[in-house]
Amino acid sequence: MIFDKTIFDVIVVGGGHAGTESALASSRMGRKTLLLTQNIKTIGYLSCNPSIGGIGKSHLVKEIDALGGLMAKAIDYSGIHFKILNSTKGAAVRSTRGQADRTLYRKVVISKIKKQKNLYLLEDEVKELIIDSSSVSGVITIKNNKFLSKTVILTTGTFLSGKVYIGNNCYFGGRIKDKSSIFLSDCIRDLSFRVGRLKTGTPPRIDGKTIDFSKLKVQNGDFPTPVFSFMGKISDHPLQVSCFITETNEETHEIIRKNLAKNPVYQGLIKGNGPRYCPSIEDKIVRFPDRKSHRIFLEPEGLLQKEIYPNGISTSFSIEVQKKIVNSIYGLEKAKIIHPGYAVEYDYLDPRDLKLTLESKLINGLFLAGQINGTTGYEEAAAQGLLAGINAALYSLNSGDFWFPKRDEAYIGVLVDDLCNKGTTEPYRMFTARAENRLFLREDNADIRLTEIGKKLNLICDNRWNFFNKKLSNIKFQRKELKKVIITPNSEVSFKLKERMNVLIKEKISLERLFKRPEINYLSLIKEKIFVDELSGCSCEIMNYIETQIKYKGYIDRQIKENFRQRLNDRIMLSTDIDYGNITGLSKEVVLKLNSYKPVTIGQASRISGITPAAISILLIYLKKMFFLKR
Ligand code: FAD
Repeated sequence: MIFDKTIFDVIVVGGGHAGTESALASSRMGRKTLLLTQNIKTIGYLSCNPSIGGIGKSHLVKEIDALGGLMAKAIDYSGIHFKILNSTKGAAVRSTRGQADRTLYRKVVISKIKKQKNLYLLEDEVKELIIDSSSVSGVITIKNNKFLSKTVILTTGTFLSGKVYIGNNCYFGGRIKDKSSIFLSDCIRDLSFRVGRLKTGTPPRIDGKTIDFSKLKVQNGDFPTPVFSFMGKISDHPLQVSCFITETNEETHEIIRKNLAKNPVYQGLIKGNGPRYCPSIEDKIVRFPDRKSHRIFLEPEGLLQKEIYPNGISTSFSIEVQKKIVNSIYGLEKAKIIHPGYAVEYDYLDPRDLKLTLESKLINGLFLAGQINGTTGYEEAAAQGLLAGINAALYSLNSGDFWFPKRDEAYIGVLVDDLCNKGTTEPYRMFTARAENRLFLREDNADIRLTEIGKKLNLICDNRWNFFNKKLSNIKFQRKELKKVIITPNSEVSFKLKERMNVLIKEKISLERLFKRPEINYLSLIKEKIFVDELSGCSCEIMNYIETQIKYKGYIDRQIKENFRQRLNDRIMLSTDIDYGNITGLSKEVVLKLNSYKPVTIGQASRISGITPAAISILLIYLKKMFFLKR
């Protein structure tokens, strides 16, 4: 796009998963936004496995969708294999996962970016931030363009001083075919941020034509095919394909053991920690020496591409060793590698230097989102991107308003609260286990939790808002209908329930109350052809929601009360200028921690490990005193 504008409300640096959601959010909110990225062709590029979602991550995707973001729609339009993980477990941990056609995914994202009103796109690399007395005021690029804005969002992923490793072959690169962002890394290091190094890795890609699929176990997608977006339809999906399963064996493990000394991690060339929950195959062999095999999912990278992603063998060995590893695996004896696996080591900035809005505590108006904050994963990046986009847009309005969800409102809240309070020394990924409110923070109610907030923030288009309101009235109507259906003992339906589902009706009960019983659920009633007429008008999505609300009502009510108590603390603000050494009564350890974290609310302070209830009481007394002194 050719344009002559040099002053923007928001500048976003980087067109990955964080950057695109940031840019879309702030432009949806009506702010004139510039997206600057090194290479327009790699916008929305899936650096590793072309898959979206998974346990805990899908919750983030649904929340992004509930706030009008793109990720759920992008996977709906490009997904070629969908599954519900944990489908037999409770509603809190059920998670959707979609395998994307990587080219289609990128196309959907680029097309959305190009069509978005208020959004300007330019291919250029930012080399420097312009800072005026602790506030950002713009950026300078390597093409010597100068763009001004009082908010800048950095979403540079694995690119800051990124170094690619394939065996002993090491060079500067943000990803295998992308250049590293070295100037910006130097600029950031000069700005007194706390900077660390992390690493991540990816497996070799294999030519599907050279794999003997006839030997392998097939894994089909789920039927009916799941959808991600609340507004999505199965018909949005392209053609669906199967994945395949194989595994490593003793021969593979022996090859790895023999070559460990030549691996860049085990030689000590790579110092940064890697993702604990997504280890390289060499790490798995070292960490679990007794395991006889490790499962590998062979996942197609697209409908037209021949590349297969062997999920489970990420590696940084030399190409020769990678070939041996691959050919030792059942079904891959003659397989050819198209692109080698590699590791990348990069700078990340300590997220404890961020406010919960993702604005830097050191430089006003500078926001950071995505892998730069120590996370791993497209979903974690996109979620932060959306949040940073919202707050940068609000900041640019000078209204003094900002927004971030609390831990009991959204997984996005858990993510930023964990990052900003606890920091991280290894790539952070989301899990349902990280959310103490997980029965409340489910995939199925993300829109009910967040869409109204999204509307207030100007993130939601009329179409989505009307769709959402229709859903709400449908839920209300269906719940009323369930209340109206009364089952009496000895009625025909009670016999059916006993006979087909072993459910005994001893006294009059409404169909709504019947759903409280663990053995009763919508799908089993439909399967056993009981209440067919009563339930025929309900969509599966709405019934799942109603059913979960009924089953977990007691727990959810208790949790809401507890959350209300906690919330009060999250409303009491702490200035980041406080020197905690000046507050009498606080222990040395507490002072050290508070001065290092600079929490922005009492609630946030209370969640820092080592901050005792006694210390919180002292802080509350201090705030009261300050309040009266100011009056
Ligand atoms: P990215 O998607 O990396 O995007 C960064 C963008 O910023 C790029 O478009 C880049 O060109 C641009 N950029 C950088 N510097 C500048 C600059 N100075 N000026 C302008 N533009 C700039 N995640 C997992 O969940 N599991 C995995 O197993 C996994 N493995 C990975 C393996 C590898 C090799 C890599 C590279 C990543 C892997 N990831 C994995 C991580 C996943 O790709 C990232 O978490 C995600 O892409 C981060 O999104 P982001 O938006 O923060 O950054």
